[in-house]
Amino acid sequence: MQNNCPVCQGPLTTSVANLFDTRFGIDTEYKITKCVNCGLEQTAPQPDQAELNSLYEQYYNFSGESNTRYTKLRAKFINSFLYRFWLLIDGDISFQQKGGTGKLLDVGCNEGRGLEFFRNHGFVAEGLELNSKAAEVARAKGFTVYGSTLEGFSSGNTYDVIVLSNVLEHSLHPGLMLQHIHRLLNPDGQVWISCPNSRSWLRTVFGRFWINWHVPFHVVHFSPETLRALLKKSQFEISEMRQETPALWVSHSIIARLFAKPGQPTRQLRSAPLVASLILLVRCLFFPLMWLVNLTGRGDCLVVVARKI
Ligand SMILES: [Zn+2]
Repeated sequence: MQNNCPVCQGPLTTSVANLFDTRFGIDTEYKITKCVNCGLEQTAPQPDQAELNSLYEQYYNFSGESNTRYTKLRAKFINSFLYRFWLLIDGDISFQQKGGTGKLLDVGCNEGRGLEFFRNHGFVAEGLELNSKAAEVARAKGFTVYGSTLEGFSSGNTYDVIVLSNVLEHSLHPGLMLQHIHRLLNPDGQVWISCPNSRSWLRTVFGRFWINWHVPFHVVHFSPETLRALLKKSQFEISEMRQETPALWVSHSIIARLFAKPGQPTRQLRSAPLVASLILLVRCLFFPLMWLVNLTGRGDCLVVVARKI
């Protein structure tokens, strides 16, 4: 467990108590601590890397599902005009609509869904993925995927863009992660980051059931201010910071609030009909509200483009 802030070494206080894992039912009580100096929030007790690895192995195991009716249907939807329209109104938090040229590295690329978008939008895209089954599926699509951590990674290549889509909040050492990204980027290269916003209005609405606490997997909880400070310290200059509130995340928070119990997995989060109905309901009912909170700094997801300096 950390006794000081990993960014500024400041002392910590408790900001949220009595948290539990609302997804998989890991039977441990957690809390959120906040740095008195810089305001950075973290999960406590903090698992060490070995514990985290074994938790990922147990709960995040990608089954290697490919070429099934479900994955084919999903691929059809993702390649349709309907999906592009959906991203336009719901927000593109994974940079799937962003175009450009040059070499791009997607950190934690899973089975390569993001890589396909990046390749289609002009990049030479490569991935990093520790899960060997997921990496195999991505390689079968023709991508170069390295089975390495970012810290140990050196392909001899440098990149124009490195993508951290919902990755940084999982890191025990986010500052170190950004240092390695700095090392791997070309001069003027960009890092694209998305992560939950700890100042989200949904944190206020759902309290300890807010889905983005996601303890113990989310180790650090960034606000616009703390992410800005960490990027500055890591020698990046922010060129764009916006906020989105994906209807999927709102739906997951609603399901957690209704069904999650300590020590029990929340099966309803995996019910496709329930999740899809809630997504549509949330998007239709709360459209103006979600748009407004994104503009006032209380959106659920931070989306950042920063340039190496
Ligand atoms: Zn601090």
